Amino acid sequence: MKLCKWHTLVFRCPKCGKDADYAAQVVEGPQKGSIWDPSYWCEKCNSAVRARDKWLFGAVFGPLMAMIGTFAVQAVPPGLQMAPWVCLAFAAVCCAIVGWPLSRTLSRHLVYWEPCDPAALRRARPRRMSKDDE
Ligand SMILES: [Zn+2]
Repeated sequence: MKLCKWHTLVFRCPKCGKDADYAAQVVEGPQKGSIWDPSYWCEKCNSAVRARDKWLFGAVFGPLMAMIGTFAVQAVPPGLQMAPWVCLAFAAVCCAIVGWPLSRTLSRHLVYWEPCDPAALRRARPRRMSKDDE
């Protein structure tokens, strides 16, 4: 199995509660998910998990990055006469500087991790519901 570690995502295992400062996506192997619904791997309890509400993360993160990129391009004084690619590179650097901690913060609050295994998911669900009732 091959794992790809995303250091821009904060991971919390739904089964064993392990916190990691990266999410290990399964790139190759039997547990591999689809492009739209990739599987991630907990190295502590060796189980496959998937990210729920990841679209929400994208819906917040994407427009914010676009905004920062636009601001960065507009912040370049017109008198500098910079080539368009320099402006784009500058915008990309700004996005990287702001985007990295932003991505980590957003993934911590917006992405829900749940087990891929349907049986484990059924066990996890009622617990979450009863917690909501309290
Ligand atoms: Zn785990």
